[in-house]
Amino acid sequence: MLPRSFGPLVHGLVLFNVIAKNLTILGATGTIGLNTLSVVERHPERYKLFALTANSNYQQLVEQVERYQPAYAVLADETKAVACRLLQTGKCDNTLFLYGTDALEQVASDPIVDIVMAAIVGAAGLQPTLAAARAGKRVLLANKEALVMSGNLLMDAVQKNGAELLPIDSEHNAVFQTLPRQPGGLSERGVSRIILTASGGPFRTWSLAEIENVTPAQAVKHPNWVMGKKISVDSATMMNKGLEVIEACWLFGAKATQVEIVIHPESIVHSMVSYCDGSVLAQMSNPDMRIPIAYGLAFPERIEAGVATLDLAAIGKLNFEALDHKRFPCVELAYRAIDMGGTATAILNAANEVAVEAFLAEQLSFRQIYDAIDFVLRASVVRPVKALQDVVAADCEARLMTQDWIKSSKRRRTSAAEGVM
Ligand code: NAD
Ligand code: MG
Repeated sequence: MLPRSFGPLVHGLVLFNVIAKNLTILGATGTIGLNTLSVVERHPERYKLFALTANSNYQQLVEQVERYQPAYAVLADETKAVACRLLQTGKCDNTLFLYGTDALEQVASDPIVDIVMAAIVGAAGLQPTLAAARAGKRVLLANKEALVMSGNLLMDAVQKNGAELLPIDSEHNAVFQTLPRQPGGLSERGVSRIILTASGGPFRTWSLAEIENVTPAQAVKHPNWVMGKKISVDSATMMNKGLEVIEACWLFGAKATQVEIVIHPESIVHSMVSYCDGSVLAQMSNPDMRIPIAYGLAFPERIEAGVATLDLAAIGKLNFEALDHKRFPCVELAYRAIDMGGTATAILNAANEVAVEAFLAEQLSFRQIYDAIDFVLRASVVRPVKALQDVVAADCEARLMTQDWIKSSKRRRTSAAEGVM
């Protein structure tokens, strides 16, 4: 269930055309950040850029500052501060540069900010996203890992502080668009199932043997979407869909048994809601993240996103098929983590982030991403999530455990190659 009634938003309609909303984009230099800037550029009367943030790519951040003139720019990686300062020109004079991770929280929670796009990749996005929720902002959630890790913590922060959490992940945005607007639990609203679509990623038609040893270059080549490297690998293993099942459970108050996955290679139907009378409502569009971004920015209004209208006759056919858990076992790990509860989803997320990084650095095979997460999920102690420290501790422990597993798997491989037992 999405928090907050829609009353204040209706009231807000009166103001829409008068006052531009102040927007912070966390992760402005990433794929979602760039798509957000592309939508915002079309509506200068509606959105004012308050802050843009990046991790270490100061060159791109300085270019964005020169072009968009936000009030603040944040570079999370302080070691690049001097290089960043040296690059700044007179065109940056209207912007105050801040350095370090604390500044991310400051620009996410500043009283002047109305909307925060949470588009940092991975666990690094948790604390600034939480800060935005605690400050009562409209939070546009692309950074699914933040919700997967913290679950009830983020949802409670949203509810207690009158924030709004609007999903930007295309599937969840589609579900949000097709759910009935009246408040209440899913079954009260006649909803029987949420059906998340999945493109199947680059290896949808590959055999188990072929998938075992794919390279990072093959894994990051998504057939339908241009995305950052981490989410591209997640799509290839289909852990992305597992993370999205967890995300859907929190966002919509669903049980894991109410969330299903169907493979849809064309990525035109972005997800569906199935009702108790047998109706299934779907949201369709060309696969372009500017659509969910525009929806989240303007909700409950709709604004132009710069995306071509859907030409179904040209597409001709839409296909659907069942997910093959044998070839894509990471999805099952996510369902397992939901069942385990507490910090298990934070552990799953941390192990996945470390394993994906190691795969991209060619320290692990594609199949070993699953093996590493499976091991860490079995070996970890799962605790209840009462405070942020519980999540942070689980995240740290799981990262260390995954790194150890990767080191020992390397030793095993070296010993096997040398014929040592
Ligand atoms: P990306 O790798 O292209 O960009 C990530 C952004 O986060 C960059 O601006 C980077 O500077 C910033 N960042 C990375 N590490 C950071 C750190 N330690 N501290 C501060 N900032 C840091 O990723 P993306 O594809 O834009 O994805 C962003 C998020 O949105 C992810 O959580 C992803 O799962 C989600 N998402 C992306 C898409 C998509 O189409 N790209 C779709 C749905 C959801
Ligand atoms: Mg998605």
